[in-house]
Amino acid sequence: MPTSSDLPATDLAVTDPPSAGPSPAGPRSGPVDPTAAQAVPAAVARLHAAFTTGVTRPLDWRKSQLRALRTLLVEREDVFAAALHTDLGKSGTEAYTTEIGFVINEIDHLLSHMDRWLRPRRVKVPLSLAPARAWTVREPLGTVLVISPWNYPLQLALSPLVGALAAGNCVAVKPSELAPATSAALAEWLPRALNPDAVAVVEGGVTETTALLEERFDHVFYTGGAAVARIVMTAAARHLTPVTLELGGKSPAVVETGTDLATAARRIAWGKFMNAGQTCVAPDYVLAVGDADIETHLTDAVREMYGPDPAASEDYGRIVNERHFDRLTALLSDGRIVCGGDHDRDRLHLAPTVLTDVDVDSPLMREEIFGPILPVVRVPDLDAAIRFVTAREKPLALYGFTASARSKRRLLAETSSGALAFGVPNAHLAVPGLPFGGVGESGMGRYHGAHSLDTFSHTRAVLDKPRLPDTLRLAYPPFTRGKDRILRFFT
Ligand code: NAD
Repeated sequence: MPTSSDLPATDLAVTDPPSAGPSPAGPRSGPVDPTAAQAVPAAVARLHAAFTTGVTRPLDWRKSQLRALRTLLVEREDVFAAALHTDLGKSGTEAYTTEIGFVINEIDHLLSHMDRWLRPRRVKVPLSLAPARAWTVREPLGTVLVISPWNYPLQLALSPLVGALAAGNCVAVKPSELAPATSAALAEWLPRALNPDAVAVVEGGVTETTALLEERFDHVFYTGGAAVARIVMTAAARHLTPVTLELGGKSPAVVETGTDLATAARRIAWGKFMNAGQTCVAPDYVLAVGDADIETHLTDAVREMYGPDPAASEDYGRIVNERHFDRLTALLSDGRIVCGGDHDRDRLHLAPTVLTDVDVDSPLMREEIFGPILPVVRVPDLDAAIRFVTAREKPLALYGFTASARSKRRLLAETSSGALAFGVPNAHLAVPGLPFGGVGESGMGRYHGAHSLDTFSHTRAVLDKPRLPDTLRLAYPPFTRGKDRILRFFT
């Protein structure tokens, strides 16, 4: 029996195709003029043309692109960290751990495993079709559009790009206009590091994204809010283009008595207040079960991490813009402030804030907060906590802080969410083997590591049946009673 390495060579993964030859892509793409939505069709056409040459298919090419991106991130860490500080006031440590280093890890993980993950896979052939061989190959989809948001403007533009390149695609990256410094840095540096025929950066906002969505892509990968996701999916439907939607929502943290409340509070505060709460998987609110006094511990944790005056802390980020600042400060009146609440519009500073006695029908509890406000909602028992969660949209993440194995089993069995993590928020993203994605209103599809290769590849079915012996003759009409009996036996 052949092993997968004996399988016929395909143009993917097993052998590199012959030289792709000169690119017909004409002038190199590079960054697209941000003011020129009309430049979009030509830029996308160049990507399609580059894909057609086969340049992106060889594994060596893919790896060289990943390595080049890695080198760029290592050598220009200061450029990207400065841009992230300009856009969101991120500290150098946070910029590295949650953005630059995060993408480097993703690249390393793919480089270590992609040979194996992209290998053709043998599939058993039923006796009725023997002799024959069947296998699957992963082939690139073509040209992928990545639309990314402002909150992790580097990570959320580059992680999908890494997956799409590893799978052998050409990619148009559309960074968020609300993180303009990072967008400009990506537009300047990506074309220098990567093959600009295969990767284009299109800067801009609604006009440019709308122009991009007019074009036909082979996959659209969108990260952002659900309202724009509907626009993206509608536009993609016109071309029957598959979409991945990485969205958000209200991710609850269920805290039971009996757990170590001080540790739970520290970890919740860490997950909530990094990037000033502007994290899609941050705990949106706490469901405090019974008399778990988490508020006091949260107040202590905030003080430990950001000092008595978080406005003076270099480790605390800022709100992205005035619109979000005004939206967030309006939410402060939907509960009683236990800690924080200080804000300064000129500096776009909103202190880490814990609220209690919240109105569960108020905007604070109806909409995703996406900022440094943490409401604590008290529920009498785990049943009530589960009812609270399941009565709402399926969240991107659900967190459980409990010492009870039974409670863990119940949260797993009786709720649904993109991810479920016990004892720590946000950290599941850093487990490269775990898929990252939502369910229902929090998104569709998943990526990271091997899951990115699933998302950005087509798994093609291949069957190869030799000419002789022609066992299929039994299946050819005219049918006799004997043939019928044999066919029924093997079917
Ligand atoms: P955003 O405003 O940056 O928008 C995202 C992208 O959509 C941008 O590139 C933007 O240019 C584009 N866009 C905006 N309006 C558009 C329109 N009318 N037509 C076409 N394109 C348009 O980001 P956002 O939506 O404010 O992001 C915040 C949301 O994203 C939150 O809900 C958050 O939870 C979610 N999010 C999810 C993840 C995840 O990985 N699941 C990560 C980060 C953020």
